[in-house]
Amino acid sequence: MTAPAGSATADVAVVGTGLIGLAAAVALAERGLDVLLVGQPRPGESSPAGAGMLAPSLEDTNPGASADPVHQFAVASLARYPGYLQSLTDRSGVPVPLNRRGILRVALHASEADTLRQLQGANAHWLDAPDVLAIEPGLAPVAGAMFYPTGGAVDNLALLEALAAAIARSPRIRWIRTDVRAIAVNGSGATCATSNGGTPVRSAHVVLAAGAWVNGIAGLPRLLPIEPYRGQMFSVAATGAAVLRHVVYGPDAYLVPRGDRVLVGATMERAGFDADTTDEALASIRSGAAAFWPVVSTATTTAKWAGLRPVTPDLLPILGRDPDHPSLIYACGHSRNGILMAPLTGDCVVALVTGDAPPADLSAFGVARFSRDT
Ligand SMILES: Cc1cc2nc3c(=O)[nH]c(=O)nc-3n(C[C@H](O)[C@H](O)[C@H](O)COP(=O)(O)OP(=O)(O)OC[C@H]3O[C@@H](n4cnc5c(N)ncnc54)[C@H](O)[C@@H]3O)c2cc1C
Repeated sequence: MTAPAGSATADVAVVGTGLIGLAAAVALAERGLDVLLVGQPRPGESSPAGAGMLAPSLEDTNPGASADPVHQFAVASLARYPGYLQSLTDRSGVPVPLNRRGILRVALHASEADTLRQLQGANAHWLDAPDVLAIEPGLAPVAGAMFYPTGGAVDNLALLEALAAAIARSPRIRWIRTDVRAIAVNGSGATCATSNGGTPVRSAHVVLAAGAWVNGIAGLPRLLPIEPYRGQMFSVAATGAAVLRHVVYGPDAYLVPRGDRVLVGATMERAGFDADTTDEALASIRSGAAAFWPVVSTATTTAKWAGLRPVTPDLLPILGRDPDHPSLIYACGHSRNGILMAPLTGDCVVALVTGDAPPADLSAFGVARFSRDT
């Protein structure tokens, strides 16, 4: 849909229609703000390519990580998920499957088991090999696993569909399916020029959620340190011995059960904006997964794909106002955990627009953390 001449004004323009942009738009509209959402699907978008793991503790490398505000943000977003999906389904009519069975982080050897055991804490407990096989009989006889009972996975494709359906039903959101070519921010707001030559979009605030492509927008007050990191994945049919109940995370691959298939991922590669898969990378993930899930060696691939994560140097999102241009709000660079962080990111964007206290500590996410280093 192209905005009619002279009518493209709103309280907020949201640039980018991945999970972060859609979640922000829905949250803003729910708060009673009028939103112009600008963007369209493109090859390599991260959100549909993701595995949907909701795993705030998986990348912790020390037991004290749970006190960290970044970790707390991730935990709070995970806790937000069940209610978030319920209300989204109520508004959209689209059910979004949520796996809350917990995550097994497997150790293949005794030395890995020793390292993983150090992470035991409130959110994780150790399972010896027989207990691991009791709950996932299809796994190889591993050395044990750390079990994260609150973790799981969301079907991110269903989530995107539900958000799009909620947007279609919302009288407060207009979705303009084109790209933003340039943004001009000034004291009274922002103007986005679109690539289709349509009427410029004027708004009091603009939320930048353009993923790995964000630096392609002209007029931004600063270059954002966000790079595309390609993630390749494939899926196999969940039949016979290849049925799995839990997300299983191993040293070189992970498994995510989703309906009638199991997703197997993922690489983390610098390949520019190339979003193709390669046979070598997929073979390497398969062999990494076979080390703890033997059936995958011979299972037939049902689909393969790749997406471009918007990655920052510290793997944390940029979420906050531009220090010099408060009408410009960054919601990008969610790196490896944007699906996990999406619900709370939407809430925080609302607070940043309205001036309310954000529902989470955003001090680690400011864009100025990068300019300090340069
Ligand atoms: C293989 C893989 C596995 C992953 N697994 C997980 C996981 O298990 N758990 C997890 O939490 N996260 C995971 N992620 C990361 C997660 O997918 C991302 O962090 C998240 O989806 C980022 O969302 P986004 O909306 O910022 O970016 P994207 O989804 O990339 O969306 C960006 C949007 O901006 C639009 N856009 C770009 N330029 C413009 C412009 N000029 N004007 C308008 N629109 C524009 C694009 O078209 C796109 O719609 C994974 C990612 C990959 C690739």
